[in-house]
Amino acid sequence: MQSFIPPRRTLMGPGPSDISPQVLQALSRPTIGHLDPLFIKMMDEVKELLKYAFQTENEFTIAVSAPGSAGMETCFVNLVEAGEKVLVCRNGVFGERMRQNVERCGGTAIVIDDKWGEPVSLDKVKQALDQHPDIAIVAFVHAETSTGVLSDARAISELARKHGCLTIVDAVTSLGGVPLLVDEWQLDAVYSGSQKCLSCTPGLSPVTFSNKAVEKMTSRKTPVQSWFLDQSLVLGYWSGEGKRSYHHTAPVNSLYALHEALLMLKNEGIEEAWSRHAHYHQELKQGLEALGIQFIVDEASRLPQLNAVYIPEGVDDVAIRSRLLNEYNLEIGAGLGDLAGKAWRIGLMGYAAKKENVTLCLKALSDVL
Ligand SMILES: *Cc1c(COP(=O)(O)O)cnc(C)c1O
Repeated sequence: MQSFIPPRRTLMGPGPSDISPQVLQALSRPTIGHLDPLFIKMMDEVKELLKYAFQTENEFTIAVSAPGSAGMETCFVNLVEAGEKVLVCRNGVFGERMRQNVERCGGTAIVIDDKWGEPVSLDKVKQALDQHPDIAIVAFVHAETSTGVLSDARAISELARKHGCLTIVDAVTSLGGVPLLVDEWQLDAVYSGSQKCLSCTPGLSPVTFSNKAVEKMTSRKTPVQSWFLDQSLVLGYWSGEGKRSYHHTAPVNSLYALHEALLMLKNEGIEEAWSRHAHYHQELKQGLEALGIQFIVDEASRLPQLNAVYIPEGVDDVAIRSRLLNEYNLEIGAGLGDLAGKAWRIGLMGYAAKKENVTLCLKALSDVL
């Protein structure tokens, strides 16, 4: 066996996305101890930078040392207690995973379904909340990566608050790609991932909790069944004014990379990052439509960072994607679940949302089609 040298691909799928050389360089810097004062100082900066990315003042804003799915699980295991009712809005793969999380916590999931490719229906949320006054939490996916659809987080959160419910929000694909205003929209528990629009290496999950969410966690009647994800234990590690206690060994180098990726976002400016995603989405859309390729999602709720399109009639999905990979070093995403074999998911996430990528993707698709 020899060292593994990966090819240089252009990543335009549902994540991981292209990573800037600057971030990869940060990753390879010397490892230092995770309780080294300099490392702790850097972790404090990661918290500050995450607060900026989430547009929140929440003190409890950290990166879980595991991928987005662990961020999802962190929110559910800490907030849902056995016997509680949680409204789960399901309009794709990730909503279904939320339902499974609720059930595994011993909660009861009240599920409302919307068609794949459509946003969460506010009417259905309202109806379900009226029908079940004992619902404690409303859980939904802000940006459904399986279908390319954006739901109205602000409006869902408002309905939840009217009924005295907390919100758990999947912002894995939305963070950094489209407006996500945690404080202004009063979202309670929000989780994301490092490898989508933040364009960092996979394996970290930024999370943020409102004061209301923290209160609910600290007034639990039963301990969180997961030792690793129990945030009451993790918090002593991420905060605690100079007397940080060992919880687990932080992924030191991955956190250097996240620090760098978040710094790049801060330097660009979050609004600028949102408009850059919107801009290249428009360019890609024009090019795709010129090739006769149709979008799945209505324009009003389309994600700029995840372009879900129908595979043209008579085209061999697997053959085309493998030609793109082998001849152009270009990865685009396949359809998931109900859309398997019917859709492609073309990502324009983070560092990948740029002119060269749009040009390459359109040229490659037009050649192979
Ligand atoms: C990618 C993704 C996840 C899971 O993140 P991982 O890092 O793959 O565990 C969860 N929700 C959404 C919407 C995603 O796109």
